[in-house]
Amino acid sequence: MSALVTPSISLLRPYEAGKPVEELARERGITDAVKLASNENPHGPSPKAVEAMRGVLADVNRYPDANAYRLRERLAASLSVAMAEVVQGNGSNELLDLLVRTFTTPSDHIVFAEPSFVVYQIAAMAHGVAFTAVPLTNDVHDLDAMLKAVTPKTRLVFVANPNNPTGTYVGRAALERFLTAVPADVVVAIDEAYAEYADAPDYASALSMRGLRERLVVLRTFSKIYGLAALRVGYAVATAELCDYLNRVRAPFNVSSLGQVAALASLEDGEHVEKSRTRNGVERARLAAALESLGLRVTPSQANFVYARVAMPARTLYEALLDRGVIVRAFGGLPHHVRITVGTERENDRLLAALGEVLK
Ligand code: PMP
Repeated sequence: MSALVTPSISLLRPYEAGKPVEELARERGITDAVKLASNENPHGPSPKAVEAMRGVLADVNRYPDANAYRLRERLAASLSVAMAEVVQGNGSNELLDLLVRTFTTPSDHIVFAEPSFVVYQIAAMAHGVAFTAVPLTNDVHDLDAMLKAVTPKTRLVFVANPNNPTGTYVGRAALERFLTAVPADVVVAIDEAYAEYADAPDYASALSMRGLRERLVVLRTFSKIYGLAALRVGYAVATAELCDYLNRVRAPFNVSSLGQVAALASLEDGEHVEKSRTRNGVERARLAAALESLGLRVTPSQANFVYARVAMPARTLYEALLDRGVIVRAFGGLPHHVRITVGTERENDRLLAALGEVLK
């Protein structure tokens, strides 16, 4: 029999999502679990988004607007770009995969960092595209090393800024240099899923660097600070030419009507975003300090999670916290690191209490 899948698909392992609280209830009978594993907004969606969804619930027999016209119109206006420069995605995750499918072939090459968002590698492997995963330096993207990893076959580069799982960022000057130095025929995708949480003075969105190269894609999501993770809405900003190609390949009706109206309404609730950002900043600092005092080494974070090094095996810690109803993330290949999403004050207290017990 011929092989059912390509060699790279046979090597692929499914994306490991943060454990849902329902699963922990099923597996260990824990009914009050706290999930700090998927970088969700612990303060929920905007009430305006919930209200907007109520308004369209009875119409879900109809397909959504395949072009997400109103959402893209609103995004384009607020970003001062043309509507043709915005593509909606089923989460930014769909757009990552779409970039690989649209702009690379199995004879090309992709560059991204490691550890970084694992979907870059999954997308490359799913489509049989070779890649180089460039190690971070001191938990930060090493843009010089990534530039050196670009070969004549490289068609696509991913940079998560801030990065997942480390929460680190590259500043304006370094990113500008990189965008200028990468050969013009390469598509550079800057994944800004956590941009709204970043508050370092020299953090800058690549949206402000679009003049530096034609082949630049900036990815954003409604899953994080906007609190709409379940709805799967993200978007890409790029030249009309790049967007046109992405639109040829993407699935029709890729964002549901609920997602479209909720995202649109969320953009009208600046107060919700601001409150989420402020609370995250306060709790992120408190959590980092408390973790340090428990003996973990915490990497400075610009996102809504912290990356911490623990002396004991990360899997052991992960399991011990699960037993106490607290879900964090451990990763294959990172034996002594956990990633902990910044929760509410109460959730973070639960984590810290459980961690105190485990480390005692
Ligand atoms: N990029 C990064 C860096 C992420 O951490 C995530 C979510 N974990 C995504 C993209 C995808 O998010 P979504 O598909 O929900 O927009």
